[in-house]
Amino acid sequence: MDASAGVIAAVNNGLVCDPLLKFGTDDQKKRWLIPLAQGKKLGAYALTEPGSGSDAASMRTTARLEGKEWVLDGTKQFVTNAHDADLVVVYARTGSEKYDISAFLVPTDAPGFSRLKKEDKLGIRASDTMTLGFDRCRIPRDNLLGTKGKGFNIALTTLDGGRIGIAAQALGIAQRALEESLKYSQEREAFGSKIAEFQAIQWKLADMATEIDAARILTYRAAWMMDKGLRHTYQSSAAKLYASEAAHRAVDAALQIHGGYGFIKDYVVEKLYRDQRITELYEGTSEVQRLVIARSVMGK
Ligand SMILES: Cc1cc2nc3c(=O)[nH]c(=O)nc-3n(C[C@H](O)[C@H](O)[C@H](O)COP(=O)(O)OP(=O)(O)OC[C@H]3O[C@@H](n4cnc5c(N)ncnc54)[C@H](O)[C@@H]3O)c2cc1C
Repeated sequence: MDASAGVIAAVNNGLVCDPLLKFGTDDQKKRWLIPLAQGKKLGAYALTEPGSGSDAASMRTTARLEGKEWVLDGTKQFVTNAHDADLVVVYARTGSEKYDISAFLVPTDAPGFSRLKKEDKLGIRASDTMTLGFDRCRIPRDNLLGTKGKGFNIALTTLDGGRIGIAAQALGIAQRALEESLKYSQEREAFGSKIAEFQAIQWKLADMATEIDAARILTYRAAWMMDKGLRHTYQSSAAKLYASEAAHRAVDAALQIHGGYGFIKDYVVEKLYRDQRITELYEGTSEVQRLVIARSVMGK
């Protein structure tokens, strides 16, 4: 599967359907979860803002109750699927405390909702990424997801699952890089032999294969734990961190094995090289994954 298709599905399923399943009311599930899970509607997840990414709790978007409606004001940035989404899970402040944040189900036809800017990106170009504006955006009171003031927990729980999806995306990119490298190195000749005969190339292939195996096992373990309902914060972060960085090394080695052709758009490794980079950034940068892992191993 293409890396863009992977993230479109990962956001809809992992960052929208999953919190709806865990925290939604029966009515919310009927109205949104069923068509989203059937692929009849598309969902997006809006946590990041122009001034806050890793430190998501310092967001500035607000929501306040006015009669029977919530009124949202603010800007969300880098929202995957935003161009075609029917529903956006939006996180906004509902009080003055740092973590007084709530989650809202915002239909994209709500008054005051607007799509502001589509980003021009290095990779995953078939997946759209947009800035969204909320200007006195009005939604029904019942569109609060979960409990008021507990939205940040929903955001973090959601990312525990979402990160497994990004680990899987990185794994897919790395696997393709290895397959392309195996094929090319057994066809391409230099100095009278296939380049796969050179030990320098074989070592790259061996490292790629070993790291991809390790990434696959970490990813499957995290997914298995999530399926079993076990706490998996550490396992998700470890899988995402390792798989994304292993994919980084794999696409770099694949490009090198392809020589000059690896730099040319006719060969898919050029695209894999660009698509891989985002896996180290979204749903928590590698630095943030290390923070989560360190806290976990230190028992904090
Ligand atoms: C293509 C794309 C799609 C995205 N999709 C979505 C989406 O659908 N929904 C959504 O809400 N967001 C989305 N994002 C946002 C993404 O999750 C953030 O970009 C990411 O979390 C990093 O935040 P930031 O860009 O603000 O970087 P910053 O938080 O400003 O970080 C800048 C640098 O500082 C480092 N840093 C920050 N804090 C620390 C720390 N405590 N210790 C060490 N280093 C630190 C970071 O690791 C990074 O290297 C998307 C981003 C992109 C590019």
